[in-house]
Amino acid sequence: MKTRAAVLYDAPRPMASAMVVEELELDPPGVGEVVVKLAASGVCHSDYSVINGNIPHPLPVVLGHEGAGTVVEVGAGVRSVKSGDTAILTYVTPCGRCYFCTTGKPALCTTHSRDTPPGTLLDGTCRLHKRDTRYRQLTRLGTMSEYAVVSENAVVPIRPDTPLDKAALIGCAVTTGVGAVLNTAKVEAGSRIVVIGAGGVGLNVVQGARLVGASRIIVVDVVPSKLEYARKFGATDLVNAKECDPIQAVMDLTDGIGADYAFEAIGGARTIEQAFRMIRIAGTAVVIGIAEHDAEVRLPATMFPRGERRLIGCYYGSSRMRVDMVKYLGLYRDGQLNLDALVTKTYTLDQVNEAFVDMQEGRNARGVIVFD
Ligand SMILES: [Zn+2]
Ligand SMILES: [Zn+2]
Repeated sequence: MKTRAAVLYDAPRPMASAMVVEELELDPPGVGEVVVKLAASGVCHSDYSVINGNIPHPLPVVLGHEGAGTVVEVGAGVRSVKSGDTAILTYVTPCGRCYFCTTGKPALCTTHSRDTPPGTLLDGTCRLHKRDTRYRQLTRLGTMSEYAVVSENAVVPIRPDTPLDKAALIGCAVTTGVGAVLNTAKVEAGSRIVVIGAGGVGLNVVQGARLVGASRIIVVDVVPSKLEYARKFGATDLVNAKECDPIQAVMDLTDGIGADYAFEAIGGARTIEQAFRMIRIAGTAVVIGIAEHDAEVRLPATMFPRGERRLIGCYYGSSRMRVDMVKYLGLYRDGQLNLDALVTKTYTLDQVNEAFVDMQEGRNARGVIVFD
């Protein structure tokens, strides 16, 4: 069948003309694979990092890794989903067999992250092509396409009455940000936390912190419009790091003690170092942002034993996607997670470049591409 998709042919590229929307040929689903008709695809900073070359990726590639839609066809041997199912897609395709999958950590699947080429299906081959050229799918999804063939393991069935532009965000930003608080850090009620970076993930760290009853939610960014979004999602204190020393600001806001938890949601060596220096003795700094592939952090070694500080990583909110994504949808239905205000603008697939420029300018909490 044919599908229209947003393709990146070259990187780094200027945002205003990075993506080419064109028709590609989509092969039928193989064993254990399904065809999904996309309803919505969020526009995430990780897509942007592929365009600007900070995340190197084989090209050409269809971008998009935050999607929701409907299963319209299933390949041989598919048992966990059926045609007609409404679903969120996961940007890690867990194999179900490796050490991490079988010990309850599907987000860390090494078949996905290490043993299979980037942007293919789990058997190492591609389903998208045009004449002799094969196209990769970012994170084995490529959600900026009308249709995608994905592994059934990347499909989380949800209730059919879910608004899919909101559900799509659970595919990346919500699960990563809320999961960092609930699963990775296990933040206790009453905690004082700081979040560096008020993008889609950072705003969901704020939501998660509010959900567990954090007493102080300090948000650090350099873009005033993003700080204002953070306030809407529950931030109690806003710090513009362009106007002050953010470490000193956090110390002042925590009686000179430091934050119980700091979350780095940008992906930069300097901001990771800042997050570590913002925590109190026996506090925890959590690195969520994906830095440039060769970035290194420098920290005073004595701060680890003297003061028992912890620096830990978080990938995909340490989630078990099939459990956590359905849980977050339930919290949305109960009014405890705000997904509606996250979607500040929707775009057509043909407006994809405009969506990336708006992201670059910090105009949206989240921009979402909506399909017909
Ligand atoms: Zn993402
Ligand atoms: Zn695995």
